[in-house]
Amino acid sequence: MQWRNLLKKSSSSIAGLPPALQPDSKEAARVVSRYPMRINPYYLSLIRERHDPIWKQAVPDIQEINDTVCMADPLGEEHLSPVPNLVHKYPDRALFLVTSQCAMYCRFCTRKRKVGTKSMLITQDTIEAGLDYLKKTPVVRDVLVSGGDPLLLDDDFLDWLLASLRAIPSIEIIRIGTRAPCTLPMRITTRLVKVLKRYHPLYINTHFNHPLEITPESSRACRRLADAGIPLGCQTVLLRGVNDQAEIIQELLRKLLMIRVKPYYLFQGDMTRGTNHFRTSIESGLAIMRSIIGHMSGLAVPTYAVDAPGGGGKIPLTPNYIKEFGDKLVFSNYCGKICTYDNQKLEYRND
Ligand SMILES: *Cc1c(COP(=O)(O)O)cnc(C)c1O
Ligand code: SF4
Repeated sequence: MQWRNLLKKSSSSIAGLPPALQPDSKEAARVVSRYPMRINPYYLSLIRERHDPIWKQAVPDIQEINDTVCMADPLGEEHLSPVPNLVHKYPDRALFLVTSQCAMYCRFCTRKRKVGTKSMLITQDTIEAGLDYLKKTPVVRDVLVSGGDPLLLDDDFLDWLLASLRAIPSIEIIRIGTRAPCTLPMRITTRLVKVLKRYHPLYINTHFNHPLEITPESSRACRRLADAGIPLGCQTVLLRGVNDQAEIIQELLRKLLMIRVKPYYLFQGDMTRGTNHFRTSIESGLAIMRSIIGHMSGLAVPTYAVDAPGGGGKIPLTPNYIKEFGDKLVFSNYCGKICTYDNQKLEYRND
């Protein structure tokens, strides 16, 4: 089926779900009026049963409206937007939000405050204001086109948008952040790929969270993009009860490499209001990283990072392999074996 038709057949209310997949609490229907629900038939077909890792990502939970811990805008994006829907936080790159729509509304979304709702107002005017800002701000070399999910825009609009970005000489890299290869792989049509490949260097960062999401359909979508010369990265989020176990993340990373997607970031869950029940501890994330580094192909190793609340940006978190600083550095390797490195001799040589 065509992706537009699949999207039209999405479930957008609890009552629209098969009874066997409805949440335990009748009150979950109240969640949907605050945080929209959309589960397209493809992503729905990946659910095997209630409470499985796919179900948890897609089906509303009453805990979303009972969260008293987290913040609406934990990354301080609204304060870092010189024009609406463009976040300029780092010196040389900017995040450009070009649609509020997604193929599936992830329950843990970091932009839950606005994604899929009327409060995320994106129009031709806001997009042109973003393009103007980028034109006037040549320090930005790398533009992350995001949303929402930019691949929910139609081919002709994307063609225009990418051409407009490419017409700005200071922009070197265009990146698209999209979950479509995972949540609606039918969107990756040959026609779309033909449009995208005209705007190299173009990178795509997609978002898989669980090995069950790597299917023949999502593999084919990634193959089409990779065959068009588009480097693919993955931004996975650690989610309690979904993927917060070393074996699950390891299997995911291996399977991503097999579909030519390079694991890029493994994110600690943001402190986003409505997602507190998904958060895991940083210690458990570091333990997962320790189980990966050195034990798996270096290609499979993402950067584990926390996006600091308040707009501090992404901070890499790495298990500590240094045991002692000093003239002799003492380390433990990936197996726990102690190793040393003579630091003092180096200083003599510098004199
Ligand atoms: C994540 C992010 C970027 C890109 O960061 P990289 O580390 O280069 O991937 C840029 N701008 C904002 C606001 C971001 O959140
Ligand atoms: S696809 Fe991305 S932007 Fe859309 S709901 Fe999921 S996490 Fe949020």
